Amino acid sequence: MLFLELAQYFQRLEETTSRLDMADILASLFKNLGVEEVDKAVYLTLGEILPAFRGVEFGVSEKLIMEALSKACGVKVKQVEALYKQKGDLGDTAQELIKWEGRKLSLQQVYTELLQIAQTKGTLDKVMKLISLLKGLSSLEARYAVRIVLGRLRLGVGDATIIDALAVASGGKDLKSLIERAYNLCSDLGLVAKRLKEGGIKALEEFRVQLGYPIRMALAERVASAEEIIKRLGRCAVEAKYDGFRLQVHKDGQKVEIFSRNLERMTNMFPDIIKGVLQDIRAQRVILEGEAIAINEETGEFYPFQVTIQRKRKYGIEEYSKEYPLKLFCFDLLFLEEEDYTVKPFQERRKALEEILSNTNTLRASEIIITDSPKEIEAFFEEAVTRGLEGIMAKRLDAPYTAGSRNFNWIKLKRSYRGALADTIDVVIVGYYYGRGARAKLGIGGLLVAVYEPSTDTFKTVSKVGSGFTEEEWRTLKDLLERVKLSHKHPRVDSILDVDVWVEPRYVITVNADEITRSPLHTAGRTIEEPGYALRFPRAVSFIREDKNPEDANTVEDIIRLYQIQKRVSME
Ligand code: AMP
Repeated sequence: MLFLELAQYFQRLEETTSRLDMADILASLFKNLGVEEVDKAVYLTLGEILPAFRGVEFGVSEKLIMEALSKACGVKVKQVEALYKQKGDLGDTAQELIKWEGRKLSLQQVYTELLQIAQTKGTLDKVMKLISLLKGLSSLEARYAVRIVLGRLRLGVGDATIIDALAVASGGKDLKSLIERAYNLCSDLGLVAKRLKEGGIKALEEFRVQLGYPIRMALAERVASAEEIIKRLGRCAVEAKYDGFRLQVHKDGQKVEIFSRNLERMTNMFPDIIKGVLQDIRAQRVILEGEAIAINEETGEFYPFQVTIQRKRKYGIEEYSKEYPLKLFCFDLLFLEEEDYTVKPFQERRKALEEILSNTNTLRASEIIITDSPKEIEAFFEEAVTRGLEGIMAKRLDAPYTAGSRNFNWIKLKRSYRGALADTIDVVIVGYYYGRGARAKLGIGGLLVAVYEPSTDTFKTVSKVGSGFTEEEWRTLKDLLERVKLSHKHPRVDSILDVDVWVEPRYVITVNADEITRSPLHTAGRTIEEPGYALRFPRAVSFIREDKNPEDANTVEDIIRLYQIQKRVSME
């Protein structure tokens, strides 16, 4: 396929506001692609060059693009700047500046050039490569290439839309669960698309976990009491819930890769864990998961989350790893030597996990009891909380590892759910208001936020948030949101309320609220007969959660469950 054809598909995608149409357009795109092209088209449609876990970024600034455009088109940088000011988008600027036909490059040729730009280290080399790419592109192609390089393609296509489209393109909706399964096992939609194209349904049925490809993480549901845990799981495993950050470790002989909860490559951040993995694991090829938490070596106590989180940093890595060494409390084993362990029951995975850990120092198995008594769970819970842990995690003994899904195979019980509703909620920013009074001078005074609804792959509004940030944070927020602003409501956002500025649903923040109420103004949980749900007295308790993707925000279902728990608690 020519890159121009892909650009024309992008144009059609940009022009539609309906998610269903998007899936149809994408399905027709995927049908027209060959085995060697389909993966690349998937990455580019998502605005990426490779799946995020590869950690490859373009590292190209606006300034660099303007420089390249000026050289390629033979106009002054000042002129490019002026046009950009007027257009507000560098893709549109490139489209207007470029007057030539281009060299009719294929999708694969352009992809290769883009990849080279990303992999090139020096700024000068990058600009040269950009110039040569721009010279080969027509104006429409340049519009999208520039946006991709800047990480601002913003077609509004998410993973779920791609999955729907792949299913339709390959012959039917029933394929969807197989595609999802494969995606959950490798986190690489390009790879899944390629396998599907190459080997059809059979290739997906045979899809297995692979070292080096992060497995999408299993998540926990929540309940309000130990009795409810036993009611749901019967005899079960109960573990301490450590308040650090989750890591998935891939060990292939002497080679180690580490992925974060949202599957970003974090290998370079944790030299102490890598050393521990090489020392403490008695096996060659392993994928395991654990919670990393900093411990005060003097007292043996856990540091609070605020201290642990400082280890997520780009600079001063060595220094901090000495000051706050991490322990990895391992709680699951997903792959061992040649075998996919995700399909085995929890108890078997746990047994093998304990066998391969020598429990010397950095890597330890999480503390665990097996019980069918709510009383015993209560006691374990109290003890954990007294030691500064977050609470407990209960696990169904015979359940497989359910990659990429949240269900009752894992159940969390945190201290804050006991008593009135006081759990925090992760929400996605979908728009903002200019603000009044003192805030007006900042140009931002409130946010419209939403929760995720997986069944429709949309974001439903649940609250306006106007407090909890410092003035400095508001300023930074405004800058960040400015970069993802849209001229109209995003196709995946469902809202009755209007805002001053719509933005791409990209940033997650954590908020606290006094309670959840029913409200006709919000779309979360709204049906034809019933109003939606809203947060009362919301305030932000975190700045942007870099570790969460929009789809990792709490769901409509979570809100409804919290509402029910709150009702029950207030009746007790
Ligand atoms: P939450 O983030 O509140 O939904 O709780 C789930 C998170 O708890 C997981 O993603 C892990 O990061 C963390 N966690 C801490 N200890 C454990 C454990 N023993 N088993 C599973 N997850 C744990």
